[in-house]
Amino acid sequence: MTHIQRTLVVLKPDSVGRSVVGEIISRFERAGLHIVGMKMVRPDKDFLYHHYETLGKMISRRGQKAFDVTLEMMSKGPMIAIVLEGVEIVEYVRKLVGTTEPKAAAPGTIRGDYAHMSFAYGDKQNIGVPNLIHASGDVEEAEAEIKHRFKKDELFDYDPMHKLYTR
Ligand code: ADP
Repeated sequence: MTHIQRTLVVLKPDSVGRSVVGEIISRFERAGLHIVGMKMVRPDKDFLYHHYETLGKMISRRGQKAFDVTLEMMSKGPMIAIVLEGVEIVEYVRKLVGTTEPKAAAPGTIRGDYAHMSFAYGDKQNIGVPNLIHASGDVEEAEAEIKHRFKKDELFDYDPMHKLYTR
């Protein structure tokens, strides 16, 4: 197992629209994680299809309707894609982010602190559940998602603390 990992985080259009991007990024930075790539983007539906279905297999996991409304929600505005690096961070970032349904997300997590929507309400309103942030589910998914979103020269190697301390 490689201890130093990279993971993809996407601050969704609801994060950007609510101007809480800085607050969310600061949660990762205060935990000692490092930004090695970052950009504001507004991907088209084909790109989102690749992210959520080709890589994320969302239709089989969540159903066609949840998939459709999620793509709609993700098309509403720009988002900020970030690659974070740190020691075994793929799982750790998911812990900071919290569970998918904001209603169920624990207080102290990003989704638990900044969102308050249920799947049932989203379903009734025909909307994707706005839960602020995407984070890769596991190491393989992180690799595939980062490759899909970032070119090699958009990612940076430098000496953050976890590297400096081990020299
Ligand atoms: P996660 O983002 O926690 O990895 P999924 O990959 O299963 O979860 O779902 C992707 C996104 O689709 C969720 O973050 C959420 O915004 C939206 N979503 C998932 N399921 C539903 C649903 N049943 N109703 C509305 N939106 C949903």
